[in-house]
Amino acid sequence: MAAERQNDRMRDMDDGLQGMLRDIRWEVEVTRRDIGKDALDERVMAAMAEVPRQRFVPEALRALAFHNGPLTIGHGQTISQPYIVALMTDLLEPRPDDVILEVGTGSGYQTAILSRLVKQVYSLEIIAPLAADAQARLAELGYDNVTVRQGDGYAGLPEHAPYDGIIVTAAAPHVPPPLVDQLKPGARLVIPVGLPGWSQELRVVEKRPDGGIRERDVLGVAFVPLTGGHGHPERG
Ligand code: SAH
Repeated sequence: MAAERQNDRMRDMDDGLQGMLRDIRWEVEVTRRDIGKDALDERVMAAMAEVPRQRFVPEALRALAFHNGPLTIGHGQTISQPYIVALMTDLLEPRPDDVILEVGTGSGYQTAILSRLVKQVYSLEIIAPLAADAQARLAELGYDNVTVRQGDGYAGLPEHAPYDGIIVTAAAPHVPPPLVDQLKPGARLVIPVGLPGWSQELRVVEKRPDGGIRERDVLGVAFVPLTGGHGHPERG
């Protein structure tokens, strides 16, 4: 009986995951004009298929783990919508030898996705218990090429800079200059910019090989705010 129930649960999980991948492909199609592509990188989709999203959501919400929307993870924060995680990862254009900085670890889900695609991920989270939980979860699941630190990501992490790519998963009032400084020439910063609760744009900032900066806005998004010294003032 127990084994049957276990099999049922595995089948539900697999159905859920396949549904999530279908939803991502569908949403890519719907937004293809904005994002300028018909499909995301297959390596990114393979990472989305591989990382067990159900392990990154609170236990009480596991039944919703594959729903294509954000979910609460406590402390007023959320794990981002799967489509947005996939899109931001694709826009970063990760390569196997890359060293990536993430700002806004949250559950560690985006960190885990990146860890499948690059050599090393450094991730900064401002809320200490979230940083500790994410670090423990990632270690337990065997993602050993990631390092989570507690701190204000506005300043980046100069000690391991420059990076092959930087991803920010909280909405910033403006593009933080320290993060642009910490990009290698040819590298990208993917970041939502705008007001909390208002319109935010997912922006790709590219540092060209000659050091010049090119920016483009890809899609309207809704993220929790970047807090800390230079972020949005804390609310409530
Ligand atoms: N990538 C996460 C999404 C987390 S939501 C995931 O996959 O689960 C955004 C996270 O950014 C929150 O956990 C929030 O606490 C964190 N954050 C907000 N401002 C920050 C800052 N200045 N530095 C580092 N992390 C920050």
